[in-house]
Amino acid sequence: MATSDRIAIVGGGIVGLTTAYYLKQAGYTEITLFDEGTGQATQAAAGIISPWLSKRRNQRWYNLAKRGAQLYPDIVATAGLSKRAYRQNGTIVTRRDPAKLNALYELATTRLATTPMMQAIELLSAQAIEQRVPGITIPDAGIFVAGGAQIDGTAFLTELATFLEITIVQEKVTLTATGQIMDYPDFDQIILATGAWLSEILTPLGLTTNVRPQKGQLISYQTASLPTTTPVLMPEGEYDYLPTPDGVIVGASHEDDQGFDLTIDTAVISDLTTSAQNINPALVKVPVSVRVGTRAYTPDFAPFFGQVPGYKQLFVASGLGSSGLTTGPAIAQLLVAMLVNPDLNISEYTKPVSEYIY
Ligand SMILES: Cc1cc2nc3c(=O)[nH]c(=O)nc-3n(C[C@H](O)[C@H](O)[C@H](O)COP(=O)(O)OP(=O)(O)OC[C@H]3O[C@@H](n4cnc5c(N)ncnc54)[C@H](O)[C@@H]3O)c2cc1C
Repeated sequence: MATSDRIAIVGGGIVGLTTAYYLKQAGYTEITLFDEGTGQATQAAAGIISPWLSKRRNQRWYNLAKRGAQLYPDIVATAGLSKRAYRQNGTIVTRRDPAKLNALYELATTRLATTPMMQAIELLSAQAIEQRVPGITIPDAGIFVAGGAQIDGTAFLTELATFLEITIVQEKVTLTATGQIMDYPDFDQIILATGAWLSEILTPLGLTTNVRPQKGQLISYQTASLPTTTPVLMPEGEYDYLPTPDGVIVGASHEDDQGFDLTIDTAVISDLTTSAQNINPALVKVPVSVRVGTRAYTPDFAPFFGQVPGYKQLFVASGLGSSGLTTGPAIAQLLVAMLVNPDLNISEYTKPVSEYIY
């Protein structure tokens, strides 16, 4: 059902673009997307979509992550996205201690029973892992999850924007005190998908937030191209190791005390290259490129979304932390459902927005 409501989305990361996608699916045609872009987490991210072996106890986070991972294949098929943007090449998680490996395998088996998206799981010896990921030497056994996936944030956003035929207004916008966008005609609804920059955009409303920035860095190497079926490796005690169409990515760091700083930190890069060489000794000391981005995190490390207290037309999503590519599409889908029905019960996915904005 088409609707002529004028919608603004502020932020062109995973939340902003997938929100535009679900809005179009719901029949909204008048969508304006603003994105300033500097330091965006989505474009800097490693891209692992594989939440099922996580031992995080936060059930709401797990519900969102499971739902988000499951939404990708449908978005990718509908929008005709490339294998660079998204591919399901599987993930391998290793454990040094055989008892911990067995416990993780039990968890994986339980989750597999209710999660078709995982497809299949397999216990692999260190030698079997080395055969699946060419070039690596690894001391530990692990678990392979066939449904694990990987996205390239930049390719995903670009290809999705092309499919949506959406023009991104490259501008940093400010809100008015009444919760509209300064210098633009009033919108019927505005979605703040501003990631780590939430505090700044809320200031004119007299609201504050406990969302904080966290710096993340990763390195990439050009290598002989690996088969596109090469899985992502998440080795215990090392950084994650991801095959790409051009080589490999190793990362990512988490720095809580750097604010919005985007400078490449040589000590962190040295730590990343040491880890890269521990996994694949053939990798040289100097990576081809470094990516730096800013994640948004909350005191309880949980994402949140919903209506901004006191402003009927304003919706928000932030605090996606280090797994926001995974939870992002689920948050977007539920936000769009809330536009249609603001009374939608989302308590199985998030605490109230008032826990994070006040
Ligand atoms: C190094 C790194 C590795 C990561 N690896 C993974 C991973 O492997 N798997 C995973 O699931 N997640 C990963 N993440 C986390 C994930 O990238 C983020 O949680 C997610 O991308 C956040 O999406 P977002 O849309 O909320 O914010 P962002 O992608 O940061 O987008 C917010 C956008 O809003 C714009 N904006 C803000 N204020 C304004 C304004 N006033 N006007 C206009 N535009 C504005 C910003 O410029 C930015 O472009 C990683 C993150 C980093 C940094």
